[in-house]
Formats: sequence, structure tokens, C-alpha cells
Amino acid sequence: MSLVSVAACDTYTLEQVRQRITAVLAPLGGIARFVRPGMRVLLKPNLLAATGPEHAVTTHPTVVQAVAELVQQAGGVVWIGDSPAGPSGQYRHVWHKSGMTDVAAHTGATLVPFDGVIWKRLNGRDYLLARPVFDADVVINLPKLKTHTLVLYTGAVKNLFGAIPGTRKRELHLHAPGVREFSQVLVDTLALVRPALTLMDGILGQEGNGPGVGGTPRRYGCLLAATDPVALDTVASRALGYRPGEVLHLALAGDRGLGCSEFDAITLEGDRDVLDFGQVALPRTRWYFNAPSWTGNLVSRMVRVRPRLNEGLCVSCGRCVEACPAGAITLGQRPDFALARCIRCFCCAEVCPQGAITPHRNLFARLLEL
Ligand code: SF4
Ligand code: SF4
Repeated sequence: MSLVSVAACDTYTLEQVRQRITAVLAPLGGIARFVRPGMRVLLKPNLLAATGPEHAVTTHPTVVQAVAELVQQAGGVVWIGDSPAGPSGQYRHVWHKSGMTDVAAHTGATLVPFDGVIWKRLNGRDYLLARPVFDADVVINLPKLKTHTLVLYTGAVKNLFGAIPGTRKRELHLHAPGVREFSQVLVDTLALVRPALTLMDGILGQEGNGPGVGGTPRRYGCLLAATDPVALDTVASRALGYRPGEVLHLALAGDRGLGCSEFDAITLEGDRDVLDFGQVALPRTRWYFNAPSWTGNLVSRMVRVRPRLNEGLCVSCGRCVEACPAGAITLGQRPDFALARCIRCFCCAEVCPQGAITPHRNLFARLLEL
């Protein structure tokens, strides 16, 4: 039976975070269960983009620091690494903005760029994964609790997609354009990476049209930990308000035996009352990506969600152009979207530092939703 441990934690003061992380790990056997002296331990936070902790896009530096300290107390050597969305070569900027440079300075941890790759093949697809993921003796997954415009929820399993460096992510989006195909890619990534431990930063997460700056920060006040990332996500996504099976990659991971996606088969330990989040704003794409099969292909084709630009917010930085896997955006004075090429992956919205791109439903989609 999968065990998910929950601890209430309502601030990012280092003392409280240290104390609550120790508490949340206790039912799992504490850090010593996972780290032995001399082990190289890769901490894999969510470092999606170069944004400050106040946007709740990236795992908070205080959480990363507290885990790094625990690993070091257990005798482990700490590496911190992730691959941001968009092109590679932006590591230093992302580390600086997200607070990881300070974490490294405070702890002596090593920040590792995800440049070199190891090739794996699974289910007919080629995966190029960051070498440090396999050079480390153990991977500790440190996701952020957020909603996600494409796959509805981003947490433990989705965070592992960051093990695929830079532009390789774009290729996978292009070759797995629909939610079902992309969810299979996420499950493949889980099968290849297999973290020993997941600890989720749910103190300040996101709701709405996450996971980038377009999402709305929301205080959930919790930390979650588990050895089974699927079970952890099943608990967290249910707390957000998703129905069983609605987050497709969790259902698929459960079907493939990679974790437990049945809420009733999961044991919850700790401050479970903190998971009563109340009403959470879910992504605008929720209904569209989950249209029941009886609506058929015709309705699916008529119901459209597309990226929409808020020109007043755009600063013409061109990051959306670099991130678009389909080459559907060109940059003149402002980005121009060739919607015939668009695969609705919303990578552009993920990387936009201004939150200038949001999902827009056509009239038919809005009428159906009503
Ligand atoms: S939409 Fe966002 S990412 Fe694209 S050019 Fe404008 S500010 Fe940059
Ligand atoms: S325009 Fe945006 S949503 Fe469309 S394919 Fe490009 S990145 Fe994806």
C-alpha cells in the first residue's frame, strides 16, 4: 500500500520549513532511509523558468535548502539540477532568479547543468535524458503544486519531464501533440527516471492557468512526501478538485504499474486536514481536454482552445518563438500565431515571462461548457 505523508507548513521561514520537512519525512523512515554517507544525491526541483519565488512557478529555495541540509547531515553530496523550458543556455539566469544560486552558496551544494545526455528507448520513442540523473546515486524529486494548462495538473510525475534537456522537450511535444500522447511521454519519463523520494512544495502553489507566470499563486500551506510519486499526485490532484482518472498521466501510470492512482488504496499520514483546499480555480482548458467520448470527433474539432496574446503585457522578448515546438509563432513587432500549425501544447504560455499568453476558448467551447 502506498503511503503519502502530509505536513502543514504555512510560511517559508527556514526554521519552520526545516522542522516540517523532518516531520513529513518521519513516517517514510526519515532521510537516512534514502541517503547513505558518500552518496551523490541529485535534488530535482521545478526550475521551469527564470522567475522569482513569489510567482510560485519554481520550487521555493527554502525547501531546496532544507532538503540539501538534511542530505548533507546524512553524509550525502548534494547536486541541484533541472532543465528549464525553452532553449538551453539559460541556466545561470534561472538559478539566480529562482534562488538556487543562494542555496548553493549557503549549503555548498553543486548546481549541475543538464547538458550531457544519455539515450534511452521506450515504447517506440527515443528519450535523451540528462546525464546527471543517471550519474547520481539517488534522485530526490522536489516538485511544486500547480495546475497545468495542458495536462491539468503538474506535480511529482510531470516534474520529471525536466530530466529531458532544453530543445529535446520541444521534439517530444511535437511527436506527442495530444494530451493522451503527451501523457504517455510523461509516464515513460517516470519509468526511466524513478526517483527514490518525492517531496512536494505545496506551501505556495498555483491555481488557474499554470504552470508559468500565467498561473495564479495560491497558498495551500502543505508539504507532501512519498516514495510513490503517482500516489502523491493522486492525493494532491484530488485535493485540487480533479475527479478520479481526470489527470490522464496519473491514470496511465497506475495502469502501467508505476504507482498507485487509486485514492482509496493510499494510506495518508500526518496533517490530512490541510488538504481541504476549498474551491480551487482549475485551468480554462479543463473541459476541452476532457470532452467525453460521446461528443465524438466532430464536436472535438469544433471545440477549440488556442493561445491568445495580451499585447499590452508582451515585451517582444521572443521566448515564446524559441519555445514553440511547431514553429507556429513568428516575431514581428509582436508575436504572430499561425493557428493552423498550432498543436495547443501551451509551451509558449509556460515560458512567457509576462503571462501575456493565455488559453482562449472559442464561442462553441464556451457555450458547451455553460
Ligand atoms: S508573448 Fe511573452 S514570451 Fe512571447 S514575445 Fe511577448 S513577452 Fe515574450
Ligand atoms: S503557438 Fe503555443 S500552443 Fe501553439 S504550438 Fe506553439 S507553443 Fe504550442
